[in-house]
Amino acid sequence: MGLLSSFKRSFSHGVHPAHYKGQTENLAIQRVPFGNRYVMPLGQHIGAPAIAVVNKGQHVGRGELIAKPGGFISTALHSPVTGTVTEISPQRTLDGSFKPTIVIEADPFSAQRVETTPPASWEELSIEEFIETVQQAGIVGMGGAAFPSHVKYSIPDGAHIDDLLVNGAECEPFLTNDHRLMVERPETVIQGTEILRQKLGAKRANIGIERNKPEAIRALEKVLEKSPSLPITLSPLEVKYPQGAEKMLIQSVYRKEVPAGQLPRDIGVAVNNVGTVVAIADLFATGAPLIERVVTVSGPGIDQPANLMVPLGTPVRDLLSFCGGLNDKTREIIMGGPMMGFPITSLDVPILKGSSGILAFTEEETARPHEYPCIRCGRCLEACPYFLNPSRLALLSRNRRYEETMDYHVMDCVECGACSFACPSNIPIAQLIRTAKDNLRQNPVEEAA
Ligand code: SF4
Ligand code: SF4
Repeated sequence: MGLLSSFKRSFSHGVHPAHYKGQTENLAIQRVPFGNRYVMPLGQHIGAPAIAVVNKGQHVGRGELIAKPGGFISTALHSPVTGTVTEISPQRTLDGSFKPTIVIEADPFSAQRVETTPPASWEELSIEEFIETVQQAGIVGMGGAAFPSHVKYSIPDGAHIDDLLVNGAECEPFLTNDHRLMVERPETVIQGTEILRQKLGAKRANIGIERNKPEAIRALEKVLEKSPSLPITLSPLEVKYPQGAEKMLIQSVYRKEVPAGQLPRDIGVAVNNVGTVVAIADLFATGAPLIERVVTVSGPGIDQPANLMVPLGTPVRDLLSFCGGLNDKTREIIMGGPMMGFPITSLDVPILKGSSGILAFTEEETARPHEYPCIRCGRCLEACPYFLNPSRLALLSRNRRYEETMDYHVMDCVECGACSFACPSNIPIAQLIRTAKDNLRQNPVEEAA
């Protein structure tokens, strides 16, 4: 099997924002020292929140189960530290709302070892047992969306997966957490990819990586050179946003379209993030559930940017102080990347399973540019990878004609922000579309009889 596919791969439309990865791309992942307080919201992903199985005052070990899955589209939660449960109460979350949360005070005298034993060998598990093991380990998509991974591995009767696609595109500017995982742990990336490929019964696997990560490509290539029989191919991709969006990645690597309203598995593909395949490999090597992740801390408002291995539940405030604190010019903190991330309302919000980055921006980047009327230039249409009509959707949303946005397939918008980036009139198109979607979710439109 060829290691590297050499032709230029990409998808239609998209935009080319500057990468801004230079601040952190060469910084090795550092482990942050343990702090005092860890905040674990029960709902950290799409689907039902987990259900607490611990009580206030209870002592918990690092890696111990603290909440069980609340349904099939839900995963378990484990304690990120050895310590004591001090609260089970509503705490502030990313969007400012309060949600049920387990708060743990770390034991300052604990060595913080993970006391787990590896599960049965993955080769011996049936697919149902494998799915159950992944769900109980709390593993979700680590690229940002945090969709419970085991749900993706539950293939309906009659369907089958031919191709496993590992997402190493990391197309959001500033973020380098996936890049560092590929550079520093290439064997684990390949191991996790092979475990998943075999368990899903896929014939082949591809790892899609943007070409601005040559060091990661080279590191993975070296591992594959030692195991030429593995059916795993590296696919270097054009540097373009949003190359890492699931359907775009499939288009770039396989030249296949996932029809609107369908999932990758409907065309025989399963997509998993690099961080997720590493979590799977770690689970079967050591038994460690998902209790920590790599986070990039960067942006012009940070004096000491870094790639950090962070226990889940760590307050953003603690990460920022480890990185030398915010400089005087900082005006806004974003969780995630600058294109799809969210501004946080409090530094007390915690790092969650889907938190890939903490970015600090100054007045210069956050000052809202003056908005001009639409000049019908069509750049937003050329940017939209989903072939939507962003200018029309934005106009309808601005006029609160939310129902009519359904005629323009508003729900197919993935809120990637490429349209806003391309707009010369500085119209906040993606924000307006998000407003329309939120309103439609709260007041669903009745289907015509
Ligand atoms: S935010 Fe929505 S409408 Fe705008 S480019 Fe992305 S998918 Fe298209
Ligand atoms: S890019 Fe902006 S100005 Fe151009 S058509 Fe779209 S909304 Fe109008």
